[in-house]
Amino acid sequence: MDPQSAIAQVKRAGLFRTQGLIGGKWMDAYDGKTFEVYNPATGEVLANVACMGKKEANDAIASAHAAFTSWSKLTTAERSKLMRKWYDLLIAHQTELGQLITLEQGKPVAEGYNEVLIGASCLEFFLEEVKHCYGDIIPQTQADRRMFVLKQPVGVVGAITPWNLPLAMALRKVSPAMACGCTVVIKPSELTPLSALAVAELALQAGIPPGVFNMVMGFAPEIGDAFLASPKVRAITFTGSTAVGKMLLAGAAQTVKKTSMELGGNAPSMIFDDADLEVTVKGLMIVKFFNCGQTCISPNRILVQEGIHDKFAAALTKAVQTLRVGHGFDEGVTQGPLINQAALHKGAKVLVGGKRHSLGLTFYEPTVLVDVTSDMLISSTEIFGPVLALQRFKTEEEAIHLANDSNAGLAGYIYTENLRRCWRVAEAIEFGIVGVNDGLIPAASAPFGGFKQSGLGREGSKYGLDDFLEIKYLCLGNMV
Ligand code: ADP
Repeated sequence: MDPQSAIAQVKRAGLFRTQGLIGGKWMDAYDGKTFEVYNPATGEVLANVACMGKKEANDAIASAHAAFTSWSKLTTAERSKLMRKWYDLLIAHQTELGQLITLEQGKPVAEGYNEVLIGASCLEFFLEEVKHCYGDIIPQTQADRRMFVLKQPVGVVGAITPWNLPLAMALRKVSPAMACGCTVVIKPSELTPLSALAVAELALQAGIPPGVFNMVMGFAPEIGDAFLASPKVRAITFTGSTAVGKMLLAGAAQTVKKTSMELGGNAPSMIFDDADLEVTVKGLMIVKFFNCGQTCISPNRILVQEGIHDKFAAALTKAVQTLRVGHGFDEGVTQGPLINQAALHKGAKVLVGGKRHSLGLTFYEPTVLVDVTSDMLISSTEIFGPVLALQRFKTEEEAIHLANDSNAGLAGYIYTENLRRCWRVAEAIEFGIVGVNDGLIPAASAPFGGFKQSGLGREGSKYGLDDFLEIKYLCLGNMV
């Protein structure tokens, strides 16, 4: 398959959308401006997309606000039924959606198809989970009183999503919000708006009422500011860099909104002398090279105990050499291009890779570095690329100290066959997601979120509804 036939197939399915969606209508930017979306593998322009700003964002907020009254009054069963139709359409169009993801984001098309399933699984989880979202009855404090807790949708939600999983991230945010009765305005990344726009098209086809799901993109700071300034937007949900997240948090204070933030990680993988080498290499390879290392849970600091270090480095290097870099539509490719340049790695020793791939442009060689130390930039910054940086440690205490020596606290991984050590270390490390002898661990049914500066709130699981719900204490007096 080549990019041109993929584009043709997506267009034939009616899923190649380039306008914003406001109040159920596809709209150009009011001043007619557009921006270009590129194929990162070739540098070719894929589409000219409506370049929207404050005015369009405010109209989208107004239509979400108008739709809230009726959407929130539907029963959960009625909302779930519509969302189930949306889910069915996503699955029916898995091929075109997966191809669209590859076109704009670059990942191998098998990963594109898988991303559609990841996104759809969020929708399915929350359209079911919301049916179990109960309130409480509190034992009365006076004989004639009756006391209750109601859970109600917070209102209009502003969602801002990144480019690394452009379809799945959009669905991950809107699924819990819409399931519990909120309406949404979503701003996808300007690097990858097309797959989110296709999701919007399918929402319309599923019969999601106009105004419940709106999408605008273009001038990110203007749209973000419109979300922040509007008292109608009652929650902001964001996935992206810690720097932008902090700005949004500060801005949300103006109107005291709920915020949920999935920010950067700096994940340690802690590999102990008693680890199973095969399990470790397999787990690390899966999560590190998923999406070419461009995820916030990607292991960033590979901490290896000295007894296993050299054996492990050799096995890892061998595994890395089996990866195939190339265009996402080519057979057998496991690593697509990067959206950005890979990270710096000055000072460490390169075992394999370490430079731009011969395909040029945005392609980078899968890389293993050894002799990394804590004072190197690579230990404190998120790499977001296919680079494994190995750092030696001697004792368990030292490993825990190194792992926690970071402002980030999203994901951490432990490899050991010792059950006691596994439990000790898992409790001691300051991370919201801990994987033991396993790689790619996220699931729609599990809570995803960080400690420290990696964010606030949790996505997925029963806890994922909390960011979109208000708790109302209802007290009925003089009841008997
Ligand atoms: P990354 O470095 O992964 O691209 P960003 O935080 O820059 O992370 O981007 C994540 C999302 O945040 C994107 O949709 C981007 O357009 C958006 N964004 C960037 N700057 C702002 C801003 N000032 N206000 C609102 N959204 C923003």
